[in-house]
Amino acid sequence: MLTESAKLQPSCADDNEAGVLSVNEARQRVLANITPITAMEKMALRTALGRVLAEDVTSPLNVPSHTNSAMDGYAVNITDLANDISQFECIATAYAGQPYKGQCQAAQCVRIMTGAPIPRGTDTIIMQEQAEVLPDGKVRFNGKHRAGQNVRLAGEDITIGSAVINSGRRILPADIGVLASLGIGELHVRRRPRVAFFSTGDELRSIGEVLDDGEIYDSNRYSLYGMLTRLGVELMDLGVIPDQPAAVREAFQMASSMADVIITSGGVSVGEADYIKPVLEELGEIKFWKIAMKPGRPLTFGHLGKSLFFGLPGNPVSVMVTFYQFVQPALHFLASGTPYIPLTLHASCSQDLRKRQGRTEFLRGILQQSDNAELQVAATGQQGSGMLSSMSRANCFIILSEDCGDIKAGSVVPVQPFDCFV
Ligand code: AMP
Ligand code: MG
Repeated sequence: MLTESAKLQPSCADDNEAGVLSVNEARQRVLANITPITAMEKMALRTALGRVLAEDVTSPLNVPSHTNSAMDGYAVNITDLANDISQFECIATAYAGQPYKGQCQAAQCVRIMTGAPIPRGTDTIIMQEQAEVLPDGKVRFNGKHRAGQNVRLAGEDITIGSAVINSGRRILPADIGVLASLGIGELHVRRRPRVAFFSTGDELRSIGEVLDDGEIYDSNRYSLYGMLTRLGVELMDLGVIPDQPAAVREAFQMASSMADVIITSGGVSVGEADYIKPVLEELGEIKFWKIAMKPGRPLTFGHLGKSLFFGLPGNPVSVMVTFYQFVQPALHFLASGTPYIPLTLHASCSQDLRKRQGRTEFLRGILQQSDNAELQVAATGQQGSGMLSSMSRANCFIILSEDCGDIKAGSVVPVQPFDCFV
């Protein structure tokens, strides 16, 4: 079934035709069709790494739980220093985990280690480098001191009852550390999105098979596997489906019975062996299928039963570009209910670039910092949408917006890093 807005869209291959969506419009339309997952499960803290928190966590404790020393040194009462007491009797040693429970009197100090609770009668820590132990065992302090210096106050990091981490947050290593510091061993997290994906094409062979004339190895399922795995979704790899309507239909039905999101690659153009769109039209609903972008123009988005459907183009670079631009924000929103805001930097472009106005172009770039700390980006060379090695060499997209034309070397261009931490 075609939606009214989809029917209005002309089908000829001109990027400037009315009805072709801009990248931003297309992304908004995708997001508007998503209801975030709310189902949750309970799991142990470590297992929850990378999962999306399904509850607001408030602190059951103060962190630190007691006022303690930030230094190895001596605990004193600042009033004694103000009263010009110059020598102190050291009455005890306090360790982290072994506090001194007595009371410190005037002209007394306590030797104290980092993390030990501040003894009663003291309020200030003097670091050991500013202390001198005299032959008779008394201690003299050098330098100037301020009341409360080198003291960590109870609750200064996290106050009991305060909001710590909100629902919708993807749990990072620091988060499990913070939660552990609160003694929280189990969490409610959201169910992970289930994603079914398959490749289409009679020419595709799997690794291990011998290539006959005109055949190629299926790479899209592998790059999709990599990108999806990083997002922490539940994967269902349905393999390679031949260019036959019956086979495509069967794969669609199988995928929609299991998955929240279906991702296919190939078969979305207007060639004679392109069955994705007609079968989606028959069994589901097409929301749009053309975007003013390069590469990735024929991305097909719609519904199949309760599943969201992304029919990505076949060319391997287009698959990765459309995944990062549309599928990743969609999966993020589905999983967490929070918007996905990719990091966009601005870098000086080290070469002239040709750019056609009226569409957004995503060039593969190599982003680096120059000796004078300026961000610089260069295109990876040949940018054909079938050249996956250009993705492999790149660490960012250079994003040339619809209204921009040719770029001169030295111009500042927006870049979106991916894989920059590898
Ligand atoms: P299509 O959109 O099906 O016409 O595919 C466009 C181009 O991408 C063709 O050259 C296909 O051979 C190639 N292609 C399609 N699917 C894959 C895949 N899974 N792995 C590698 N190349 C593919
Ligand atoms: Mg094909």
